[in-house]
Amino acid sequence: MAKRRNRWLQVVDDPKREVFHVLARRDIGLGQVVCRLPKVFTDTRDRHSIEVGPGRHQAFTDEIDDYINHSCDPNLELVVGDAESDEYVFRAIKPISVGDEVSWDYETFESVLQNPFPCTCGAVNCRKMIVGRDLR
Ligand SMILES: [Zn+2]
Repeated sequence: MAKRRNRWLQVVDDPKREVFHVLARRDIGLGQVVCRLPKVFTDTRDRHSIEVGPGRHQAFTDEIDDYINHSCDPNLELVVGDAESDEYVFRAIKPISVGDEVSWDYETFESVLQNPFPCTCGAVNCRKMIVGRDLR
């Protein structure tokens, strides 16, 4: 059974837009770790995987992190840690208020997106089309 909430975050379904959002369940301070995910590697990229190294991708595990949307001006970062660490963490890079949507920047990890998409994050620095950092 997938975990759809933890102490800090909750996955919310928006049936109108057929998308998921992950919202803060409480105020979150700068630097707070809000989500941990076990390292599960795959050598193939797909629309849900996270590129964590050359030819190395974190697989879809149906945990909270898989539902965190992209933003060009995100409030979370993904921290991979060293080879000995068996988990990744998402950490707040801004203070986050209860009810805020959390987001991270997919292009900080993906060199080429499997499924490029138009971005509607609304940030002043929005890159409009999210394709992967190697295609910038
Ligand atoms: Zn954007």
